[in-house]
Amino acid sequence: MQYEQIYRRSIEAPEAFWAEEAKAIHWHRPPQQILDYSNPPFRRWFVGGETNLCYNAVDRHLAERADQLALVAISTETNITREITYRELYREVNAFAAVLKRLEVGRGDRVVIYMPNMAEAVFAMLACARIGAVHSVVFGGFAAHNLALRIDDAQPKLLIAADAGMRGGKVIPYKPMVDAACAEAQAPPPKVLIVSRGLDAAEPKVPGRDEDYATLRAQVGEAEVPVEWLESNEPSYLLYTSGTTGKPKGVQRDVGGYAVAMAQSMRTVFDCAPGQVMFSTSDVGWAVGHSYNVYGPLIGGCTSLLYEGLPIHPDAGIWWALCEQYGVRTMFSSPTAIRVLKKHDVDFIHRHDLSELKYLFLAGEPLDEPTAQWISGALHKPVIDNYWQTETGWPALTLLPGLEMKQVRFGSPGFPNLGYRMKVIDEQSGAEVAPGQKGVLVIQPPLPPGCMSTVWNDDERFLKSYFSHFKELLYSSLDWAIRDEDGYTFILGRTDDVINVAGHRLGTREIEEAISGHPRVAEAAVIGVHDELKGQVPLVFVTLKQAATAEEVEGLAAEMVQRVTGSLGAVARPAHVHIVNALPKTRSGKLLRRSLQALAERRDPGDLSTLDDPGALEEIRRALGT
Ligand code: AMP
Repeated sequence: MQYEQIYRRSIEAPEAFWAEEAKAIHWHRPPQQILDYSNPPFRRWFVGGETNLCYNAVDRHLAERADQLALVAISTETNITREITYRELYREVNAFAAVLKRLEVGRGDRVVIYMPNMAEAVFAMLACARIGAVHSVVFGGFAAHNLALRIDDAQPKLLIAADAGMRGGKVIPYKPMVDAACAEAQAPPPKVLIVSRGLDAAEPKVPGRDEDYATLRAQVGEAEVPVEWLESNEPSYLLYTSGTTGKPKGVQRDVGGYAVAMAQSMRTVFDCAPGQVMFSTSDVGWAVGHSYNVYGPLIGGCTSLLYEGLPIHPDAGIWWALCEQYGVRTMFSSPTAIRVLKKHDVDFIHRHDLSELKYLFLAGEPLDEPTAQWISGALHKPVIDNYWQTETGWPALTLLPGLEMKQVRFGSPGFPNLGYRMKVIDEQSGAEVAPGQKGVLVIQPPLPPGCMSTVWNDDERFLKSYFSHFKELLYSSLDWAIRDEDGYTFILGRTDDVINVAGHRLGTREIEEAISGHPRVAEAAVIGVHDELKGQVPLVFVTLKQAATAEEVEGLAAEMVQRVTGSLGAVARPAHVHIVNALPKTRSGKLLRRSLQALAERRDPGDLSTLDDPGALEEIRRALGT
């Protein structure tokens, strides 16, 4: 089937199109109305329909595929692999749901999940979905402050945490981070459920608050918990993401629209049918982890591989060995991961039989051409760059080999996905730009099923963050883009102060706030600068309240790095802290971020006519050694 034809139908007759797509999932009660767009830009898909994500991901497959592998959780950190069939998944999810019920978690309650890529993280997510609780998974690499911010916003009834994660053989205890976050939070959860793998037995329990999963699991035995049927537009989960303020936004997803988008994208984008195998290397804490480690493949009746560990341990062939062993058809990873593998011998790929592997999808950050060329040449399979955001929940720009395998054009994530009405418009006039011209990538609402419904508890913020940038009511992606003559779109980077470190989205403001907390700091400016491996890394410039002596400088910089990693996590580690006497600002006091970034990347700093103090720029040049 031709992409253009189906895409056009999805745009011109969205209700008929999505009504048809909705048949791919199970509805306890069918939708009464396909789309309610009476309150733009808020939209409700499949109004009145009742369904459940867990039922669609688990129960529904028992009749036909109970003994098929549902989840394979591989850890090259603990050296444990768990192969879980749909029947076993049903059992584990029911037991977890029974434990949640014991802890008095019910429909609409929020549950924060702070776990690495281990099977129980998936059980916990599905168990929440089963009983109608709203999960909010927090990336295990985030530290206490980040966790506390998310707790305060979501106000969870329960926090589920692993005892520890592991990275490169090193145990990273989670409990101290949980305790610190609960101490910092205004509304700490009344209960904390610890899922222990025996990695960190040392941490004492907080009486009355902490519960042990294994103990409760033994008590509930083989319990079965009935599915809670939810109206299509009730919240299913929250996933926090960084923006321009220091406070992360709770991206809220619905139930029915998301289930339909997952079912459809597994078929049309990922070309992965029931019984076939998908391997996404993402962390469950990210959008890709939610959609293509958990909900997409399981709703699709596929086998999902979940991986905990480094891509180069025990050697740089581990992922390809897993592809061979499990007959992976569709693989999904990030450009950074491929850049890591590129440093190793290509023979780590060639020594494996990859005849089952059909595609490698890469997303989360720009895919540079040398990396794309290298991996395409090594695999001899299509490498499909696809663009999306936590907000969209599934690819917005991509090729759709499940419909039609169009030619890959390096540097471009392809075409709008089904249901996405996308334009590239002029930042000032809002008019669509000509092919080859740079503009802002926008989506004309109503957003398709699967995309965020709102910002948790904050409709105003949803409107202000995404829909207030142009005269016309348009969703701004906050990314620059160019569309070429043939309709391929190219992404040129963010229009706001968000940076992308190894596919992880960070707000420069969050890092600035962490550093500003240092008693000696007067002002901090954080920018993202190009990095060969990670795409971008944060670079910090600070001014001090009182000048530092030459001996103090190194220690102070180290303290600031420590502040960032201690409160936000290692992902946010600054590449360098430059202590300077002044920051380059305009006469109205606005920081010249783009000039700062250009200088750090050894580019032309651009228009400096508004610069207040030329000395400040000289300072920066000196600090950077340019
Ligand atoms: P996140 O919400 O963390 O997935 O980050 C979304 C942002 O990552 C987007 O707004 C883009 O700036 C960037 N991004 C994601 N995928 C791509 C891609 N394929 N090419 C270029 N940038 C991307």
